[in-house]
Amino acid sequence: MSATAYAQPAQRRAEDLARLTAQEWDIVVIGGGITGAGIALEAARRGLQVALVEQRDFAWGTSSRSSKLVHGGLRYLKQGQLGLTRDSVRERQNLMREAQGLVDPQSFAFADYKGRKPGRWLFQLGLAVYDWLAGLYARHYYAVDEFLMLAPNIGRKDLKGGLCYLDAKTDDARLVLRVLQEARTKGALAINYLGAQQLLRMPDELGGAVRGVQLQDAVNGQSYAVQAKVVINATGAWADGLRQQQGAKAKLRPLRGSHLVLPAWRLPVAQAISLMHPQDGRPVFAFPWEGVTLVGTTDIDHSADLQQEARITPAESEYLLAALRFQFPQLQLTQADVIATYAGVRPVVDTGKADPSKEGRDHVVWMEQGLLTVTGGKLTTFRLIALDALQHAAGMLPHSHATKPASPVFGPCDALPVFNTGLTTQQRHRLQGHYGPLAAQVLAAAHPGELQTIAGTETLWVELRWAARTEAVVHLQDLMLRRTRLGLLLRGGGVAHLRCISAIVQP
Ligand SMILES: Cc1cc2nc3c(=O)[nH]c(=O)nc-3n(C[C@H](O)[C@H](O)[C@H](O)COP(=O)(O)OP(=O)(O)OC[C@H]3O[C@@H](n4cnc5c(N)ncnc54)[C@H](O)[C@@H]3O)c2cc1C
Repeated sequence: MSATAYAQPAQRRAEDLARLTAQEWDIVVIGGGITGAGIALEAARRGLQVALVEQRDFAWGTSSRSSKLVHGGLRYLKQGQLGLTRDSVRERQNLMREAQGLVDPQSFAFADYKGRKPGRWLFQLGLAVYDWLAGLYARHYYAVDEFLMLAPNIGRKDLKGGLCYLDAKTDDARLVLRVLQEARTKGALAINYLGAQQLLRMPDELGGAVRGVQLQDAVNGQSYAVQAKVVINATGAWADGLRQQQGAKAKLRPLRGSHLVLPAWRLPVAQAISLMHPQDGRPVFAFPWEGVTLVGTTDIDHSADLQQEARITPAESEYLLAALRFQFPQLQLTQADVIATYAGVRPVVDTGKADPSKEGRDHVVWMEQGLLTVTGGKLTTFRLIALDALQHAAGMLPHSHATKPASPVFGPCDALPVFNTGLTTQQRHRLQGHYGPLAAQVLAAAHPGELQTIAGTETLWVELRWAARTEAVVHLQDLMLRRTRLGLLLRGGGVAHLRCISAIVQP
């Protein structure tokens, strides 16, 4: 397909804005992370008129800065959050089935050392419950020699063997984009760089409930008023901001989790390695992701201004490196090995616990004067969160769709052509997962040489062309940090490649 067959991004945005302001909506969702995207998809699937607005870029918030695991969360099990773990492992199984190539199995290895906690039997018991909740048997204990083949670089002193178990990983930002893509095919509208400034209310004599929102366009500076039967506040860690416009009290405790990105050759892990941090016993992991190794995470109070991007502190960076040196002593990893870092902010309900890690991680839904706030929870459970939100909104919608049974998140799509592309099975699988039914068009958009990967990553050059042409990229960081993840995967944020990138995307 030639470039001219696509509308210019600016023209598409103008058309979307015209549509946004031309009607009253059943639902306006504020926030373009996984929670907002999931609600938009489930609402559109139920035939509701739904528009989503995001103040910066889609997935700009926590949904591009998570640990990128689709998991039950063994640590939630340890904390007794059985319901959250059960829902999560079931959603994990669904997503691995429905979004292969985007949500893929990830084997985890946990080394069993003499005298280290938790010991083999306790960990195995936890894994038995974990597997049971998911309805599968995926755990296995290996003797030392076998385990060292699975986790070759770990410390050997006092090693008795190790356990392997199953979870899954994803590209979190691409998951949001894929959900939004699916929502659009069902009639939803989603616009980035459009922030909710002010909630609009009915007059007091008519109850004073929220019935719309005043939006500010960060691209052209214009302001728009949009009416909706239900306004959903899906702004994650920022949710208290809109609630406080209603006079509600702040309830959230923002917690920061930071990560390191290392080159795979410096920290080669065939599978994920999970360990307990030697300082405080918190779980830390390192796993292969998009051609690099991801290491995370911390879990501390985030008191910085939420309008600034969260970032790792030197102390957090040192904490994560200390875990790596403990588990992989012979690799002698230092700060100089780190390619990139990123940090996300988790909204949890503040119950005043001294240890932030002990605060509950379930999502919450609050209805306050017609504003429905949905925040917290996990990337993994986005569909369940969306269904819960719609259930709460049902009474305010023209006809109740909320009870419609859950269906797969992603519809089926045709397999990609095998011949003449030179792509491996894994690359085709990845493209299919990332772009769903549009994967064949992504392939067709490639100019000569653009089906090669960018060295050190799994990204194909054509993905840049496709994103710039069709995926509502406004700023360079949208392209480098969320449509692709090159800004995290390449040293220096990919600056050495900018000349090649601009040659592809500028047309
Ligand atoms: C460190 C860390 C690691 C995690 N790891 C995992 C994991 O491995 N697996 C997992 O399942 N979960 C994980 N989570 C949880 C998961 O990432 C979050 O639950 C999820 O991303 C939250 O999505 P959200 O859409 O609610 O919030 P966000 O993704 O933060 O989206 C909210 C959006 O609202 C926008 N917004 C704010 N104010 C306005 C406004 N006024 N107008 C318009 N838009 C606005 C923001 O710009 C933002 O994009 C992790 C969380 C953290 C912090």
